[in-house]
Amino acid sequence: VSDLYPAERLELARRATAEAGLDALLLTPGADLRYLTGYPALALERLTCLLLPATGPATLLVPELEAPAALVSPVGRLPVEVVSHGETAAADGEAGVGGSDPFRLAADLLTRALGRPPRRVGLADRMWAEQVLNFRRAMPDAEQLPAGTVLRRLRCRKSPAEVAALATAGAAIDRVHEQVPGWLRPGRTELEVAADIADAIVAAGHQRVNFVIVASGPNSASPHHQPAQRRLRRGEPVVIDIGGTTAEGYCSDATRTYAVGAPPAGFAELYAVLRGAQQAGCAAAAPGVPAERVDAAAREVIAAAGYGDRFVHRTGHGIGLDEHEEPWIAPGNPMPLAPGMAFSVEPGIYLPGRYGARIEDVLVCTDTGSMAVNRARHDLVVVDG
Ligand code: ZN
Ligand code: ZN
Ligand code: ZN
Repeated sequence: VSDLYPAERLELARRATAEAGLDALLLTPGADLRYLTGYPALALERLTCLLLPATGPATLLVPELEAPAALVSPVGRLPVEVVSHGETAAADGEAGVGGSDPFRLAADLLTRALGRPPRRVGLADRMWAEQVLNFRRAMPDAEQLPAGTVLRRLRCRKSPAEVAALATAGAAIDRVHEQVPGWLRPGRTELEVAADIADAIVAAGHQRVNFVIVASGPNSASPHHQPAQRRLRRGEPVVIDIGGTTAEGYCSDATRTYAVGAPPAGFAELYAVLRGAQQAGCAAAAPGVPAERVDAAAREVIAAAGYGDRFVHRTGHGIGLDEHEEPWIAPGNPMPLAPGMAFSVEPGIYLPGRYGARIEDVLVCTDTGSMAVNRARHDLVVVDG
């Protein structure tokens, strides 16, 4: 079909499903569905669901009005039958929904493929509760388990085409960071800066803005600060953490810390510690290294400088079709890194009421070490505001 969504992937997922003792995967819109089919389906109240039995044909159930969109997506060229369900006939559906019951239709299709009713099914990890409950109603004897246990092993090791897609996303977000100094001026609100950044995220080559964190002054000590009406002031740091999704479906995520005018007392020293921690984390990333070792490499630098309790989050997260996915670069995660795994390294130091800083790159584990997809400069960017 394409390098990004190869047909073999369905077969690999089928095999993994059987090995996990599951009869089928049921995947509603989201990264799992896109990973297997390339179809960027809308998550709406109408049921769209890939039915992938461990044996037998795969079916994509779609609302009738979305069948044309499904067929022009890569799924139209995969060995997947697209079956639509309508809503204009007042048949035996749920009260008020219209049409036939797509959940019962899913149960019938799986029963036909397996030659018996399904006993254990894997549901997309982020399926809506109302759909989970409707599947339980339609397949009362089927135990429901998370499909992620089957798919995460496949998804966390990116193919060369996926690595290229992540590199494209990374280069796009780097271009936005290069423009950020021009938008940081005393008197502008965080929201004004965030609006400029959001426009630039799309202009740089993303289809969608995923998040824009603009955290100025004391707000920089809040790792997930939501931009607000606060105005930038001279002599303050600004943490900017931004990301989007490209048309290919892959995410970017990069953080840089800026200062408007000379930063406050002690900030440059804190930043130097953070810079060393981020470099140590990146240097530790290599095949065979447990994820927790990368976390520890960054954390030890921060702890040695006396800020151990001010680094309040894990060092990083995997990234791909989802902005946060496995592997988690966190204490207690022994998962060995392997070539193709993509993840962030993003230590931060946060002093509540004063200021904070974070530096984040996305890395891909290679055969011999790791490679950063982000190239934007890592030093504290002091803007003459
Ligand atoms: Zn975050
Ligand atoms: Zn981020
Ligand atoms: Zn991140």
